[in-house]
Amino acid sequence: MLQIEQIPCLSDNYVYLVHEPAQGLTAVVDPAETAPVLAALAAHGWRLTHILNTHHHYDHVGGNLELKAATGCRIVGPRADRERIPGIDEEVADGDTYAFGARTAKVFDVPGHTRGHIAYWFGEDAALFCGDTLFALGCGRLFEGTPVQMWDSLSKLRALPGDTRVYCAHEYTQSNGRFALSVEPGNAALVARMQEVDRRRAANEPTVPSRLAEELATNPFLRPDSAEIQRAVGLVGAPLAEVFGATRARKDTFRG
Ligand code: ZN
Ligand code: FE
Repeated sequence: MLQIEQIPCLSDNYVYLVHEPAQGLTAVVDPAETAPVLAALAAHGWRLTHILNTHHHYDHVGGNLELKAATGCRIVGPRADRERIPGIDEEVADGDTYAFGARTAKVFDVPGHTRGHIAYWFGEDAALFCGDTLFALGCGRLFEGTPVQMWDSLSKLRALPGDTRVYCAHEYTQSNGRFALSVEPGNAALVARMQEVDRRRAANEPTVPSRLAEELATNPFLRPDSAEIQRAVGLVGAPLAEVFGATRARKDTFRG
C-alpha cells in the first residue's frame, strides 16, 4: 500500500508525500513550496525521488526547482503544459499508466481550470490526486477552459470507484459548502456533511481527503442532474454541461 502524508502549505494548500515502500520511492504531489516538504521528508526519513505536478500554477510548482536541486528527483507533469512546468523531465497525458515502483497511476487529462491540467489515479490504492480540478464540495475556477471541457473532465473523475479518496490541493471545503447549500438546500446528505465540515474546521482539522461517493452525493459540480440544482439555476432539463456551467458561473460571484 502507498503511504500518503498531507502537508499544509501556504495559506490553504495541501501538498502530499506519496511513499512506495517496496522500492523506497517517495513522490511529492504539487509542491507549493520547499521548506515544509523537506521537513516532512526528514521527519519520515524518506528520500524524495519524484515530483508529480497536476498543473502549472505557482502554488503547485513553486518548490519544483529547489526540490530538484536539493534531491535530484525526477519531475513528472502534463505533456500539454510541458513549457510551463519548471524542470519537467517526464511528460504524461490522458490514458497513460505511470509506473511508480510497484504501484501504478493512471493519468487523466482534465482541462478546464487550466488547459494542461492532469489528474493521477492510483487505482489499487484508491487514491486520486486531482489538483485544482475537483475539490471537496467544489471544483476549480475555469481560468483556461470552457464549461463543456470542465464537465467532460469532471465526468472522467465521476466515473471512478466510490471508495476513491479525493486528495485535492486546497482546503476550500467550508466556503464551497456554503455555496452548495445555496443551490441545493434540500439535500440532506449535504446538510449533514456541512455540519461535520463545520465541526472539523472549528477544531482546526482538515476536511480533505474525502471519498468520491460523498462528493457524488453532495458536491453540486458533480450533480447537474439534480432537479433541485437545475431549478436553482433555472435550467430544468438542460444538458448537464450547461447546468454545470451555470452553477460554476453562479459560484464565481457568490458571496456567502
Ligand atoms: Zn490552480
Ligand atoms: Fe491551486
